[in-house]
Amino acid sequence: MENAGHVADIAVVGAGIVGLAHALAAAKQGKRVVVFERHARCVGASIRNFGMVWPIGQPTGPLLARALRSREIWMSLAEQARFHINPCGSLHVAYRPDELAVLEEFVAQRQSVKIPPRMLTAEDARQKSPAVSTQGLLGALWSETEAIVDPREAIAKLPDYLNQVYGVEFHFNTVVTDIAHPTLIAGGEQWTAEQILVCSGADFETLYPEVYNASNITKVKLQMMRTAPQPEGFNIGVPLCGGLTLTHYAAFADCSSLGSLKTRIEQETPHFPQWGIHVMVSQNASGELIIGDTHEYGNNPDPFDRAEPNRYILDYLKGFTNVPSLDIAETWHGVYAKLPGKTEFIAQPEPGVTIVTALSGAGMTLSFGLAEEVIADLNAD
Ligand SMILES: Cc1cc2nc3c(=O)[nH]c(=O)nc-3n(C[C@H](O)[C@H](O)[C@H](O)COP(=O)(O)OP(=O)(O)OC[C@H]3O[C@@H](n4cnc5c(N)ncnc54)[C@H](O)[C@@H]3O)c2cc1C
Repeated sequence: MENAGHVADIAVVGAGIVGLAHALAAAKQGKRVVVFERHARCVGASIRNFGMVWPIGQPTGPLLARALRSREIWMSLAEQARFHINPCGSLHVAYRPDELAVLEEFVAQRQSVKIPPRMLTAEDARQKSPAVSTQGLLGALWSETEAIVDPREAIAKLPDYLNQVYGVEFHFNTVVTDIAHPTLIAGGEQWTAEQILVCSGADFETLYPEVYNASNITKVKLQMMRTAPQPEGFNIGVPLCGGLTLTHYAAFADCSSLGSLKTRIEQETPHFPQWGIHVMVSQNASGELIIGDTHEYGNNPDPFDRAEPNRYILDYLKGFTNVPSLDIAETWHGVYAKLPGKTEFIAQPEPGVTIVTALSGAGMTLSFGLAEEVIADLNAD
């Protein structure tokens, strides 16, 4: 074997947000960290998402704390690595009494959290966002804890920052094909590392396929859209979500009023649950609106995107927003890993090797906090 002398304390497989977060957490502990990425740059879920750092979607307790810790890290990284972040908060809007009931119940449940959300009148919601349609608006949930990054910018800038500030070594275009702790084969070369972290996203096929097969893990495909920059600098102010989103995030699951909202949606608009659609819109620093999304489950995601669910999303969006332009400049899909009923999949296929994946639709929200916990656990072993 060539170059049997490559050595690191921590080897990370994958330069998506989960791999980058673990590289940062380990490097902060003074570890020599090396990251291997199959592609020339990250092209996975971590650059295909909304860029929503979204504590409001997390249940209270450890997950909310993890999300708020991640947000803190995002804020400081944005300043140091010089990427744009907008700590703008978020608005959930209600046009039907059942949506309003869920929002009010949710706000009542959260009064004791550190930064509680609150209800706004239609007029106050409009002050937060000129994009909100006030026609028929019954009220809105305002939360100040959300932040928006442009994932294409942030994920591209983080490797250089980690390299320059913490000496993290990155090997792009380098596939890890085999691991037998303490050695791994990356791009045909042998490395040894005290700890190996497999943060390979929705690739269940290359490393330890038997471990994924034995779990209930699955892939989820999401369709997304982006407009051209809004004319005349139109700014939506805050990211917006309609009533469908209340059926999506675990944060709302404890609301007893959610059941009747779900039933009404299933009866009136079965195409939304059929495509796993809930509708959110954010805006990046270039003024483009990012709009999504669908959810299709299964380990062989369709490589082709469908126009029909995208039309459903845009029609729904028009029901709660007024924006100057919904001309779509780009459509794409992303795929993330999900372990049903769990917020992540962490496994030790052999001593010294830890798989961390399946943060579902919350990888941008939870990775930095989770990585600190995982690295602290490894140090404690
Ligand atoms: C459309 C969409 C919208 C989303 N919106 C949000 C959002 O707004 N907020 C939020 O919090 N979350 C969101 N998410 C979820 C979030 O994007 C994911 O949870 C997160 O990106 C997963 O990160 P990851 O590092 O596990 O995976 P990835 O980003 O896919 O990275 C895994 C990397 O590992 C590499 N790799 C795999 N195997 C190997 C190997 N053997 N050798 C070398 N490299 C390898 C891959 O090439 C890849 O770059 C969204 C996801 C999607 C798809």
